[in-house]
Amino acid sequence: MPASSLEQIVSLAKRRGFVFPSSAVYGGLGSTWDYGPLGVELKNNVKRAWWRSVVYDRDDMEGLDAAILMNRLVWKYSGHEATFSDPMTDCRSCKARPRADHVFVAQKGRDPVNVGEINAAIEAKELKCPKCGATDLTPARPFNLMFKTTVGPVDTGDDSGLAYLRPETAQGIFVNFGNILDTMRRKLPFGVAQIGKAFRNEITPGNFTFRTREFEQMEIEYFVKPGEDEAAHQAWIDARTQWYVDLGMRRENLRQREQTKDELAHYAKRCVDLEYRFPMGWSELEGIANRTDYDLKAHSRSPENPDAVGELRYFDQEQKKHIVPYVIEPSAGADRATLAFLCDAYDESLVKEPPAEETAKLRELVLSFAKSVDKRDPKQMETPVKERLVAAAEKIAAALPGSLPELLGLADDADANRIEVWKKVRGAAEKLGEEHTRTVLRLNPKLSPITVAVFPLKKNEPRLVETARGIKRDLQRAGLRTVYDDTGAIGKLYRRQDEVGTPFCITVDFQSLDDQTVTVRDRDTMGQERVGITELGAALRAKV
Ligand code: ATP
Repeated sequence: MPASSLEQIVSLAKRRGFVFPSSAVYGGLGSTWDYGPLGVELKNNVKRAWWRSVVYDRDDMEGLDAAILMNRLVWKYSGHEATFSDPMTDCRSCKARPRADHVFVAQKGRDPVNVGEINAAIEAKELKCPKCGATDLTPARPFNLMFKTTVGPVDTGDDSGLAYLRPETAQGIFVNFGNILDTMRRKLPFGVAQIGKAFRNEITPGNFTFRTREFEQMEIEYFVKPGEDEAAHQAWIDARTQWYVDLGMRRENLRQREQTKDELAHYAKRCVDLEYRFPMGWSELEGIANRTDYDLKAHSRSPENPDAVGELRYFDQEQKKHIVPYVIEPSAGADRATLAFLCDAYDESLVKEPPAEETAKLRELVLSFAKSVDKRDPKQMETPVKERLVAAAEKIAAALPGSLPELLGLADDADANRIEVWKKVRGAAEKLGEEHTRTVLRLNPKLSPITVAVFPLKKNEPRLVETARGIKRDLQRAGLRTVYDDTGAIGKLYRRQDEVGTPFCITVDFQSLDDQTVTVRDRDTMGQERVGITELGAALRAKV
């Protein structure tokens, strides 16, 4: 069963060392996350797979790693200083600060034409605060999403040392266009790929690592002759979609969404968003835009840009003249892709029916939880939250024991945890879950944080331990991420590795000492086969 809520993914990610809330010892910092020991491996594998696919497997691409801090003029002429902002409104009554365009869309059922129309609706008291319902909203003001910092030892108080943390990696590629052209002797079409951190002071971050203020992008700028742009654009849309599918993402959870005319940036000719069906709904994974010659022109010396030192252009041998290439931009998020692969791989199922009386006891507890929620004073718990919890609890209670995985997914729900009886529900569900459910991350072996786990059947048997450690060392040297573990019984160790997506587990038993073979257990089929120790490297590499 796939995850029915993002909570299930968050809970697994925290419990098993994928992602932790940042600075937790000081109470955390809203919507910032740290990748733990397994998370960093998974995300590195995602980035590596991307780099391999868009740089190494092609003949028309180069890589780049530009600085995060850039001359402020980059952001002036890219347009970010003036326009990279969201319109915000303040509620004078409850002090909430929602996005004005979101309020307009939610309450009018359509996009506003411009900020003027939003403000006219605010003035006419047609828009309500989504939190308290008051119609006392301030006119919408732009809120720039770029983080500011100061370069140099003294903050002079004026803007002379002002710099921004880049809000996208793309501009680093545009301003290096000439360098790459000169040094790499490239002919059109060719592209440049870059992976790196980007920062946006998002007003509404959330949904775990889906929208954060610090994140990592994987961006490509692909330069083509004008006229060849449309075909190149379509080819990138197809190639990027296929990349996710080749790495195991289910096709039915992936869709291409054509941006409407209203959504398109003014310079873009066409843009297709690749969207993934996250537990919270279809949301953007990657945007693939035809940005025409806008960016290279914007950073070229012209009457509009007297600050640029030269022109970013290309000498076309056939036409014997300079042209400004068009650019196709497939822009993906490393964190969003990682989250999508996690969601897609998540599979929790009931493997054994619990005894009827235990199921009945749990059902009673869940129903008494629903009653407690229902009785809560709406001042203590808002009505929509109450309704959500009661509906979830009643649905789960009716479908137990089959809905046990769903119940476990709610374990860390912050609202549920405000109700006293939840602790009991949680304890009982976790106890049953421990014995009767199995959580597996069915990650593509190329992405799994750990490829092979090696266990000795008994940890107090030196010959078994020594053999297992030797296998770990050899496989790691052969380039397979391998761990050694002897901290539990084999069944428990299998479960732990399933939960983090390890495709292969090796057990060294007494027979291994006689015939130099070990058991290799496959995560997905749960089948076991005996393989000679000396053949392990080749056999496992063939499967990865
Ligand atoms: P959204 O509409 O979701 O805010 P966007 O259209 O602003 O995204 P782009 O500017 O096109 O996003 O950025 C390209 C990619 O970078 C996105 O598809 C996404 O994968 C990633 N990305 C953008 N903003 C964030 C963020 N705040 N947190 C995590 N990833 C992000």
